[in-house]
This record gives sequence, C-alpha cells and structure tokens, in this order.
Amino acid sequence: MTEINESKLLIVDDEPLNRELLRRHLSNSGYVNIEAVESGHQALEMLNSQSIDLVLLDMMMPSMNGLQVMEKLKSHAEWRVIPVIIISALNEKEMMLTCIQKGAEDYLIKPYDRVLLKARVSACLEKKNLHDREVLNKQKLEAAYKELALAYYELEVVKNELEALSHRDGLTGISNRRHFDNVLDREFKASQREKTYLSLILFDIDYFKKYNDTYGHLAGDDCLCRVADSANHVVKRPRDTLARYGGEEFAVILPDTDAIGANFCAEKIRREIEMLEIQHRSSDTSSYVTASLGVSTLSPHSKVLTYQQLIQEADIALYQAKREGKNQVRLWSSPDDVIS
Ligand code: GH3
Ligand code: MG
Ligand code: MG
Repeated sequence: MTEINESKLLIVDDEPLNRELLRRHLSNSGYVNIEAVESGHQALEMLNSQSIDLVLLDMMMPSMNGLQVMEKLKSHAEWRVIPVIIISALNEKEMMLTCIQKGAEDYLIKPYDRVLLKARVSACLEKKNLHDREVLNKQKLEAAYKELALAYYELEVVKNELEALSHRDGLTGISNRRHFDNVLDREFKASQREKTYLSLILFDIDYFKKYNDTYGHLAGDDCLCRVADSANHVVKRPRDTLARYGGEEFAVILPDTDAIGANFCAEKIRREIEMLEIQHRSSDTSSYVTASLGVSTLSPHSKVLTYQQLIQEADIALYQAKREGKNQVRLWSSPDDVIS
C-alpha cells in the first residue's frame, strides 16, 4: 500500500498535459497536496501565499523560463531553502550544469523515468524536512535561551533584594552588625592603602534600661527607631554607614573624615537625639532621651593595625563619656595621632 505524504508540491509547466501527467504520477506515489500552475509568475504568487516543500519546474516556458524562476527562488530569504527539481525536454549538458550551479537539486529529462522521479522527490523532501526540523529546533532553543536569560535576570533581582535585606537591621532598617563589620573591614584596608583618614563613632542611649522599665519594651523599640532616623539625617555622604551595633548601641563609619570632622558629626548626632525630646522621666541626665558618643580616628600616621582596635578605641571614648556624665561626645586620643 502506498504511504500518504502530506508535503506540499508545486508543479510549474506551461503544458496542461505535462502538468496532468506529473500530477497523476505523484498522486500514485502517495502525494496528496499537489498544486499546479502554468507560468513562472503564477508560481511566485503561489509561493507568496502558501508554504511549499518542493517545486517541480519546467524549463521552457513563455514570458519567464525555468532558470529565471529558479533565480528568483534562490535569491529569496525564505524560498531559497525550497528544493527545485527541473523537469525539461531540453537535453543540454550546459543548461543542466547551469541549473545545478544555480541551486537546482536535480534535472530530469522528459520523458522521465517514474521510479527515478519518485526516488528524487522523496530524497529532496527528506532533506527539506530535516532542514525544517533544524530550523524549528533552533527556534525552540532560542526561545529556551530567552526564557533562561529572563529567569536568570529575575533571580539576580531577587538575589540583590535578598542581599540588601540581609544587610538591614530588622527593627530600625539601618545597616546591621554583619554589614557594619564588612564595611569597616573594607574601609579600614582602603584607608591604610590610600593613606587617608577613617573615623568611627560609637554611641549608646543613656539609661535605656530605665526607659524600657518605665515605658515598656514596645516604647523602647519605637525610641530606637526614632534615634536611628535622626542619626540617619546627620550621616549623609554616600560612603558613610550608620549601623545598629548592638541592642541600644549604634555605630557610624566615616571614611575620609579626620577627628575634627568626626567630632562635629558626633556632636550633631547628640544634639539631634536630644532635640527629638523623647520624654525620659527616669533619666538622671535629662528629662529627654539622650546618648553618649565615643569617637576614634585612623590617621595616615596611625599605628592602629586592625579595625577591631579602632572599635576598641571608640568604645573606650564612649565609656569615658558615660563616666563623665553622659549626653556628651568624647574623642579617643593617642599621643601618636596627629589631628589635623
Ligand atoms: P547606660 O546609660 O550606661 O547606657 O545604661 P543603659 O541602661 O542604657 O544600658 P544597659 O546596657 O544597662 O541597658 C541597655 C538596655 O537596652 C537593656 C536592654 O533591655 C535594652 N535593649 C537592648 N536591645 C533592645 C531592643 O531591641 N529593644 C528595646 N526596647 N530594648 C533593648
Ligand atoms: Mg549599652
Ligand atoms: Mg545605654
């Protein structure tokens, strides 16, 4: 039994009898989608409106001969992949060679052998199918690549968001301790390398235990947020980092800032907190919430070797501020440091 083949074939021949014979032979071979036209112009119109898998082309036709039709086909971006079998009475070697050179798959001489025709048509269609499948696979692959690129981009966005979140303190929204450590480590190395100043402020809310005991833990949380907000208004330079260092302790990293600049910044923070005028009736220092601040500075001539040492110095200065009455700024000073 003949197997049905649904590939679309186009017969182009000006002789009705030739068209009919060829159609019959192809039908007998199982081809069910056969179009037949009588001129090159009609063939081009057909190609414009339908998807054709194989063209069976006569050579001698009025107005536009087979070679001209083929030239049009082979210079077209999409049609050039459609195989063309020339079926012609013209038995000239030169012409056969030209047609093959111009891209014809085959050249059969009328009257052609039916078995040969069947074999040639089948081989051409198999090649065309293979090409079509390759194109489809390429398109699928490209679509998959696009999807992958989009998924990768979305993943990057989520990753960046998560990373930004992992730097934040959950209560106040400012940098957390982990981020503070990373930034300070990085800035410390940069300052040593570039021989620039680097200052650190540590500050701690005065009598905060009493504040919690008096107003409750939730009010305490709210107070921490307001203090963080007000300090954030002071710390403005892009490389400055305000972080929650511990429970009610905060830290500010000030790259490229000497002790005078850092002292100015710390004093401004102290004043801003005081000016919030958050009631604190159990404080021994003020009727409002206040903070004590310690400042340390790495100078280009400093003998400080680690960033932990810089923290320790700011902590000592903070402790001194607490000891000397709270609600004040103290600078850590070393005889080796030169304050410009
Ligand atoms: P000083 O004036 O010497 O700094 O004394 P202080 O009471 O502020 O310091 P102390 O270290 O004795 O107490 C700190 C308090 O801060 C105790 C703790 O319950 C409170 N605290 C720490 N983290 C939080 C927090 O996230 N929310 C609230 N509400 N309180 C906190
Ligand atoms: Mg404390
Ligand atoms: Mg405190």
